[in-house]
Amino acid sequence: MASERTRLRMVARLREQGIRDETVLAAMAQVPRHLFVEEAFASRAYEDTALPIGFAQTISQPFAVARSCELARGGKNIGLALEIGGGCGYQAAVLARLAREVYTIERIGALAAKARQTLSSIGVSNVKVRNADGREAASNVVQFDAILVAAGGATVPPNLLSLLSDGGRMVIPLGTTEHQRLTLVTRTGDNFQQQAFDEVVFVPLKSGQE
Ligand code: SAH
Repeated sequence: MASERTRLRMVARLREQGIRDETVLAAMAQVPRHLFVEEAFASRAYEDTALPIGFAQTISQPFAVARSCELARGGKNIGLALEIGGGCGYQAAVLARLAREVYTIERIGALAAKARQTLSSIGVSNVKVRNADGREAASNVVQFDAILVAAGGATVPPNLLSLLSDGGRMVIPLGTTEHQRLTLVTRTGDNFQQQAFDEVVFVPLKSGQE
């Protein structure tokens, strides 16, 4: 199949770009990215670029997805994962292969519905899509081993720090609108350590729900 060949080319490129985690690369070789973009862009789905998914939002660049997943995994399978900014559901589909269970929160209701539909059409059953503002997400009972934030901001939303389990890993683009770096936040007890990695461009985290 043509899409399978181009997908393998995408994986070869990710390897050249420095992605080392073979489990992440294998997951990205399996998820049909062309089904997550608007049909007019399906032929460009495996290029290393962000593409429109409707509602003025984009699907993240393959490199950003791969690096985020690699940093979130830290070489180990993930138990419970939370994604903020589910968009079309692509990264959630990749995460579904790396984690036992994935919760993804998307503030635009129509996108959340579309993501749910695409994920179920390709047989992904361990992802739950919620329509809400991820900056308001809170829980007294659940904490996540990995949190992946797919939209940028100046600082880490405090509610997400409290949702990270002890020993958990959060990946979030931090910086200004033009200049962000993928940042890994690791939690040890009440201590949060930050490490900055690649330069990336993500849409900003917005408040409220549509
Ligand atoms: N994870 C997607 C990337 C989507 S782009 C992928 O796999 O390609 C980022 C998404 O974050 C957008 O859909 C946007 O609507 C959403 N978003 C922005 N702020 C948010 C918030 N506070 N809570 C939840 N979603 C948010």
